[in-house]
Amino acid sequence: MIIVGGGLAGLRTAETLRAQGYAGGLTLVGAEPHAPYDRPPLSKAVLRGETDDTTVAADFDALDCATLLGRRATGLGEELETTEGPLAFDGLVIATGATPIRLPGDGPQHVLRTIDDARALRAALRPGARLVIVGAGWIGAEVATAAAAAGCRVTVAEAADAPLAGAVGAEAGTRTARWYAEAGVELRHGVKAASVEAGGLELAGGGSIEADLVLTGVGVRPETGWLEGSGLALENGVVVDEGLRTSRPGVFAVGDCAAWWSARFGRRLRVEHWDVALNAPDVVAANLLGGERTYDAVPYFWSEQFGRMVQYAGHHPAADTTVWREDPEADRWSLCWLSGERLVAILTVDRPRDLVQGRRLIASGAAVDAGRLADPQIPVKAT
Ligand code: FAD
Repeated sequence: MIIVGGGLAGLRTAETLRAQGYAGGLTLVGAEPHAPYDRPPLSKAVLRGETDDTTVAADFDALDCATLLGRRATGLGEELETTEGPLAFDGLVIATGATPIRLPGDGPQHVLRTIDDARALRAALRPGARLVIVGAGWIGAEVATAAAAAGCRVTVAEAADAPLAGAVGAEAGTRTARWYAEAGVELRHGVKAASVEAGGLELAGGGSIEADLVLTGVGVRPETGWLEGSGLALENGVVVDEGLRTSRPGVFAVGDCAAWWSARFGRRLRVEHWDVALNAPDVVAANLLGGERTYDAVPYFWSEQFGRMVQYAGHHPAADTTVWREDPEADRWSLCWLSGERLVAILTVDRPRDLVQGRRLIASGAAVDAGRLADPQIPVKAT
């Protein structure tokens, strides 16, 4: 059995296969030279200089799993093609994650996906350095937090009218704009980046923003280019069914690279959430071993930005109305998304109890009264 991708989803696949009794050969092929590590701390503790190593504790000897690190899969036919020759397999799990989108240009452009990216960015975050962050998404907000704390002069250039608009919509995102100002970060809306040049960021409509360095945080693409021509269905990721099976028998995909069918939301979902990489491999392992399990967890994501814990569960594009809990101008608030009488997503700011209760309610599919939901003194639960 071969697992391609040495991130969390790849490691968890190896662990869950063994935990479920798989006794055959197991090989993990990973393009990075590093053992599997956690990415969430890269934009948090690593940038703050609190840690330099986020390796996930794993014992590959005990797992009896060969690791071929620094080796990249380049194609998929009868065998797995890699940079150091083909590998035969009887089962294959694709866990190749995603790659950040870069802007054109030869200027000092950083992205943040790997531990090497994080170390390089941290080294550049010197007091007084002029940093332009392209994109006020999750990564942009977290880097802005760390960079402002490091004494950089930070400008965030966002194409939409509000931070996080692409991730959670403008209604919620607008409420986070003042966090930037409070941290001394300049937030510029409606700014379309064109390229990164020596002097800074060139803008699409003409003009530029001077910078010593630019961090591009405009999203990622699923890492599936190496599967072109393999015959696997690819559409915004590797297309998999509710059991995380690809269109080819014995081949599965999981984590950031996989777009799975969610019966709960009646659509295909591909999310870049640590929780999926942690938990979905359990379903892959069961089904590789002949099981019939379904992966349809309520998606969950968190972000730590400007001293706040922001948490999100569900899938808000499925909603038709919203309900606020607490005044959104207050320090702590939640926004609930409803489809009819069902809660389909919740975003919480420093209200972890709402998040836990909301995720449970979304999973249950039970009806909820919008009036009661709006009362922050009443728990988020079915009516
Ligand atoms: P990855 O972690 O990307 O691992 C894929 C691995 O496959 C990589 O090592 C890659 O090099 C390798 N690979 C790619 N192509 C090939 C190939 N052809 N051959 C061999 N190997 C290959 N999520 C949250 O929920 N909360 C957070 O706060 C949060 N913060 C984040 C902060 C940062 C900076 C980043 C980058 C991500 C963050 N995430 C967060 C998202 C979360 O880390 C990802 O969802 C998770 O890492 C996905 O795991 P994965 O194993 O699917 O992919």
